[in-house]
Amino acid sequence: MSEEHDHHNAPPSEPAQRVKALEQLLVEKGLVNSQALDELIDTYERRIGPRNGARVIARAWTDPEYRKRLFENAAKAIEELGFPPGPQGEHMMVVENTPRTHNMVVCTLCSCYPWSVLGLPPVWYKSTAYRARAVSDPRGLLSEFGVDVGGKEIRVWDSSSEMRYLVMPERPAGSESLSEDELAELVTRDSMIGTGLPKSAARRARETNRAAK
Ligand code: FE
Repeated sequence: MSEEHDHHNAPPSEPAQRVKALEQLLVEKGLVNSQALDELIDTYERRIGPRNGARVIARAWTDPEYRKRLFENAAKAIEELGFPPGPQGEHMMVVENTPRTHNMVVCTLCSCYPWSVLGLPPVWYKSTAYRARAVSDPRGLLSEFGVDVGGKEIRVWDSSSEMRYLVMPERPAGSESLSEDELAELVTRDSMIGTGLPKSAARRARETNRAAK
């Protein structure tokens, strides 16, 4: 039996209306239980999502022992924080951005993605354009995301059902005084795919001030 890419049976996240219509049909035909479906969707939309990955990165930025464990066995270290691997997180590898290297993740075949730490993949991640250009023109693709990595080498990691990747962005300069929780707020979903960079400490401060008003 081939296990490769069997996760395509997973529920699509968009467009919402089609999902709703499909759900109704399946429930009417007695094929699925509506409550079980709601729980599944809730799990992937809210309880499992990029905030989990952000917590992992913030912990690794602040705790050298955790960071070591994360590079040795990512799935296990992620589970330490209470995020079980699930169907798309059993074989995980964390790839680290450095002053010389920028990492970016794609699934050239389809849409393999580390659900346990990032939730459901964004629409563009599954697009043919992203999947092709991540390989043929990663620098140009990054510039469309508004990311300029200067002269850094760009490494593109091709996900599969055998291995999924999580990018560890560089800890932003000026974030030295932030707590682990505050650091997690800097870590965006895209920065963990490699199509974005973390927020600066200054931007977080502005956003926090605005929210308090
Ligand atoms: Fe895939």
